[in-house]
Amino acid sequence: MGLVGSMGAVLAPSTPIGSRLVNAATAAPPLPQGRRVIVIGAGMAGLAAARKLLASGLSVTILEARDRIGGRVWTDVHDGIPLDMGAGWIHGPEAGNPISALTKEAGAKTFMTDDDSIIVIGANGKEVTEEQFGRGEKRVKKTLRRIATRMEEDDQTDLSLAKAIDRTDPGALRDPFVQYELTSNIEFDTGGWLEALSAKNYLGDEKYPGKDLILPDGYGAIPRLLASGLDIRLRQIVTHIEHNPTGVSVSIGATTLNADFAVVTLPLGVLAAKSVPINPPLSHAKQLAMSRLGVGQVNKIFLIFDHAFWPLKTQYFGFHSPIRGRFAYFMNYRTFSPFNCLVTFGFGLEGGIVERMSEAQLIAEITPHLKTLFGPQASAPKRAICTHWNEDPFARGAYCFASVGSTKKDHKIMAQPEGQRLFFAGEHTHEQYRATVHGAYLSGIREADRILASL
Ligand SMILES: Cc1cc2nc3c(=O)[nH]c(=O)nc-3n(C[C@H](O)[C@H](O)[C@H](O)COP(=O)(O)OP(=O)(O)OC[C@H]3O[C@@H](n4cnc5c(N)ncnc54)[C@H](O)[C@@H]3O)c2cc1C
Repeated sequence: MGLVGSMGAVLAPSTPIGSRLVNAATAAPPLPQGRRVIVIGAGMAGLAAARKLLASGLSVTILEARDRIGGRVWTDVHDGIPLDMGAGWIHGPEAGNPISALTKEAGAKTFMTDDDSIIVIGANGKEVTEEQFGRGEKRVKKTLRRIATRMEEDDQTDLSLAKAIDRTDPGALRDPFVQYELTSNIEFDTGGWLEALSAKNYLGDEKYPGKDLILPDGYGAIPRLLASGLDIRLRQIVTHIEHNPTGVSVSIGATTLNADFAVVTLPLGVLAAKSVPINPPLSHAKQLAMSRLGVGQVNKIFLIFDHAFWPLKTQYFGFHSPIRGRFAYFMNYRTFSPFNCLVTFGFGLEGGIVERMSEAQLIAEITPHLKTLFGPQASAPKRAICTHWNEDPFARGAYCFASVGSTKKDHKIMAQPEGQRLFFAGEHTHEQYRATVHGAYLSGIREADRILASL
């Protein structure tokens, strides 16, 4: 397919589209004038890029495949309960996380979570004592420290974290205290699984330290704020991207739009699946980086009850689940809302497995765990609502992770423009803050700045 018309002349698509936040069913207004940018994807990266470009005087149109904005930041309401299906926490809001200022701008209600407000229960139903917990934590820390030193000193070739742990502390992976520590911290945080995570680089990113914030009425307030005033076209599945030194053309089925620039914020999993062909094809370097980076698997299961039978003031419940990564961690809604809801998770490999279970299967498997955790008064949830980030064709995974053989540089490569007109943003393109909302947001601003600098 060749580029249609002169660059800068945007063709009206045959599908009726509208201005601002619209669905495909409404009438098409005139397309904007001036330097034109198409942003592909209305997640945090796309919204941040579009907002900055619009504020700098460019004409910006966002094409979004779904019938909603926000991408992996999505508050879905069930039985009147706001459920954050994707991102839930703003990490380190008091340490410079830029999303923190946006919550204030949005006037959103916030709640500071407390990681130390946790009860951990063993598979036998007995509470893990501080002494036992400390011993597990110490063993993990010591092992990981030894691995890090070895990786640095010997300039070793990379290997999986599971192998590195096994070599450093044989048998550790069978210790339930160690398993719990590894899954509830590393597998949750990275979305990767120990057998795939790079022993060298699994911790290669940076964090805003301190406590975390949640938005009891839903994280969706943030994309809504960013979307204000933007020309966003929903239900526009981009099927093809072409670029040359003078511009880009973006196809949505049979309809093609032209612009001076495009910002591609397709998630790593979508790019890797090659479901949106790009012509000329992505550079060899980018294709290699893409094949090295991992796409993490994290899914949430929201358990909704008629009444609460658990300690209302405890933020989290940890569980020595017999299957590493499956239902090992529970968050208590009652600490910040009136709703009788617990959220549990599938991390790493289990993240992919739980989303293939039916609601009845989830309830059948989780209810005995709840009885182990909270005693015979625990009842089965009336609903178990599971997210499906892997199966979702517009996400194809939760967030990126450093798999064996990948390096921090791979994120930088993913952020490199292709030619002069095609730019890339998204959490996977942020070297420091990959896999996060703030990383996605900052990457969008970075690419807007890059376009502005090129003018
Ligand atoms: C379960 C889960 C929990 C998380 N928890 C946290 C957390 O607590 N804190 C945190 O900071 N981060 C968290 N994250 C990560 C965070 O949500 C993401 O890093 C961030 O939202 C990604 O933003 P993005 O703009 O890069 O991508 P996305 O939000 O995925 O945006 C990409 C957009 O592109 C659209 N798209 C895809 N294909 C097409 C197409 N063909 N045509 C047009 N549009 C298309 C998608 O629909 C989407 O809207 C979590 C993620 C998940 C899944």
